[in-house]
Amino acid sequence: MRKSWDLQTDVLVVGYGLAGGVAASIARDGGAEALILEKNEYPGGVSIFAGGAIRCIEDLEEGLQYLTAISGGRMEPDMIRTFAEGLAGNEAFVRKLAEVDGAEVKKMNARSGVYPYPGQGTIYSVRVAKIPDFNGFPWMNCYLNPAGVNMIKLIMDNVESRGIEAMFSTPVRRLETDESGAVIGAIAEKDGREIAVHARKAVILATGGFEQNDWLKKQFLQGMPFHSMAPLSHTGDGILMAQKVGAALWHMWHLHGSYGFKTPDSPIAYRHPFPGPRNPNRKMTWIVVDKQGSRYMNEYPPAPQDTGHRAMEIFDPDLPGYPRIPSLVIFDEEGRKRGPIAKPLGFPGYEYEWSDDNSVEIEKGWILKANSIGELAVAIKERFPENEARMDAERLEATVAEWNGIVKTGKDRFNRPAGTMMPLINPPFYAAEVWPIITNTQGGPVHNARQQVVDPFGQPIPRLYAVGELGSFFGHLYELAGNLGECFTSGRIAGANAAAEERLA
Ligand SMILES: Cc1cc2nc3c(=O)[nH]c(=O)nc-3n(C[C@H](O)[C@H](O)[C@H](O)COP(=O)(O)OP(=O)(O)OC[C@H]3O[C@@H](n4cnc5c(N)ncnc54)[C@H](O)[C@@H]3O)c2cc1C
Repeated sequence: MRKSWDLQTDVLVVGYGLAGGVAASIARDGGAEALILEKNEYPGGVSIFAGGAIRCIEDLEEGLQYLTAISGGRMEPDMIRTFAEGLAGNEAFVRKLAEVDGAEVKKMNARSGVYPYPGQGTIYSVRVAKIPDFNGFPWMNCYLNPAGVNMIKLIMDNVESRGIEAMFSTPVRRLETDESGAVIGAIAEKDGREIAVHARKAVILATGGFEQNDWLKKQFLQGMPFHSMAPLSHTGDGILMAQKVGAALWHMWHLHGSYGFKTPDSPIAYRHPFPGPRNPNRKMTWIVVDKQGSRYMNEYPPAPQDTGHRAMEIFDPDLPGYPRIPSLVIFDEEGRKRGPIAKPLGFPGYEYEWSDDNSVEIEKGWILKANSIGELAVAIKERFPENEARMDAERLEATVAEWNGIVKTGKDRFNRPAGTMMPLINPPFYAAEVWPIITNTQGGPVHNARQQVVDPFGQPIPRLYAVGELGSFFGHLYELAGNLGECFTSGRIAGANAAAEERLA
């Protein structure tokens, strides 16, 4: 066991996104000293890029039914109940946090869960609509959704008002344990040297996901490659550190994602521009086809930024390869004019504004243009090496003709709603590659209802907790706004339990 420490605290929180900020605040309220170590120069993690919708539940029993349905038999009832109770308390909790700076917390209009399961109607969201005298951070650019940025400001105000210290540019590298296996601190890196931090009560891992860890993606996701929208620093550090001290893993296959764009100029992928729950009467301008030109999925599922990647992931051993990675979006002149097909987030250092009519991206060659569908197939073969051997002009022409028939009847075997359909009849025609895109991952260390990290035999690893999307509740179907909802629920459970641990000498 280590004899000397550079720093001491009661509760060490690793990662200053939303979940870390909540956990530290609640640990402090529980009478513990708290310290946050953050890898990046600024707080916020993925949380600051979020739309800012925070899931809540009105009626606990109905909420339980709904969460049970979306868990698909993969979660234990006690875990579902704890999560439902947490979501039922979220609105009051966020309103309480808002007292610190007068933030305006608003209920969002849409009052329903995403999926048509029992209890759907009891699900709703709140967001931090405004904070007096706050207009964003100078270090974050303004394309972002203000509600996500406000939410981080709210949590920062809570952390600061409690006098909690946060150290930035201080990545934690590993956990320290005693001879019994209890976690008693961590080793971090600061200014090129290692510092040892003693956590006299507990360590709470709040390091987010593994969106940018290629090795973990290769090991745990079926399709490859997956590109990601998260900051490059999101390399699943908390997963690896928890594994090293004996944690079991869960939900590693599951992610909040869809299909989207990866351009040569940015290591960060771009979403398509359909957010939130599906609007069955909003026109989507494209269809998605595989490398041979066949349509194979509902391009506009109930949560358009989620599950869209799932149909892409199949591997065909006869090819061999992934016949749907990358796929192509196909649209026509009418579609081109209706708005940008991609919506980049404004990552510092990688800002890009997609042109309103897609013309700049056509000029750049990211979008191909041709006068007929047959010519488009030839252009696809020539331009995209991935598709070279496979794109079949006759197949693509047949697919588009079939699609135009589907639009007339409004009946699609993949269940795309009629109100979202547009025919592809006005030349010129366009194509762009699309890939499976990760918004955020859900996998990580398994935790119990107290947010304690557990080993493969279900035993808690003493004094170690995990919160937020690191080992998220969601392991089957993601509920929109649920990750932020979970940052609040898991942060307050872990914060309170960590503060209640016996203090080591
Ligand atoms: C575009 C977008 C929109 C979204 N919209 C919504 C939404 O509206 N509602 C919703 O519920 N969810 C949404 N999500 C998902 C949600 O934002 C995330 O799941 C959630 O914010 C994760 O919070 P977190 O605190 O667990 O992790 P993060 O916010 O990612 O924080 C983790 C922090 O840990 C730090 N860290 C990592 N490794 C280390 C280390 N070794 N040492 C120290 N620090 C480390 C990171 O730098 C980061 O700051 C969205 C995600 C994206 C990308």
